[in-house]
Amino acid sequence: MIELLRQRRNKNELALLHPAFMLQFASVVRDLEAQGLRPRLQETYRNDTEQKKKFREGKSQISGAGPHTNVILMGPGKSRPASFATHVLDDSAKNPADPGNLWVARLAVAAARNRLVSGCVWSQSPKSVLAPGKPHRIALETAIAALDEGLVKQLLDEARGFDILHIEVRGWKRFYGVEDVHA
Ligand SMILES: [Zn+2]
Repeated sequence: MIELLRQRRNKNELALLHPAFMLQFASVVRDLEAQGLRPRLQETYRNDTEQKKKFREGKSQISGAGPHTNVILMGPGKSRPASFATHVLDDSAKNPADPGNLWVARLAVAAARNRLVSGCVWSQSPKSVLAPGKPHRIALETAIAALDEGLVKQLLDEARGFDILHIEVRGWKRFYGVEDVHA
């Protein structure tokens, strides 16, 4: 994607986020750009129909309200997207949607620096080493919290979660459908 279009897209995608958290996401983009990287935001907002389709296709574990489907009511019958999550692709990668673990580690750490959560720690199977409470998951979450990109990459090389490009607001469920959030 050419640079101008990437920047325009990021601006448009940022406008689909919940305004109370938009600056945190914008700061992740700035962090990565300051490292010479070219993050591309995608799939920030989905309406209910799109979310149900993702679920049917097995691309999401959520059939109803999720971090991508939140809206703010603007008046009778009127609403605007106010997502709690986005996906951050590597626009310089051969396949931007599959950028490799160095990117995933940098993204997870940039997200943590801005109080956001990365989907790279999530497992789809209860048997996975990334299931909650398992040592590998704990080590990965600790390395991300410590902003240790090298260690995060090393742990991701052993096992990585199913939603590597997804970042979201910590505890977004508390804010679902809430307009006036003081983050
Ligand atoms: Zn997502």
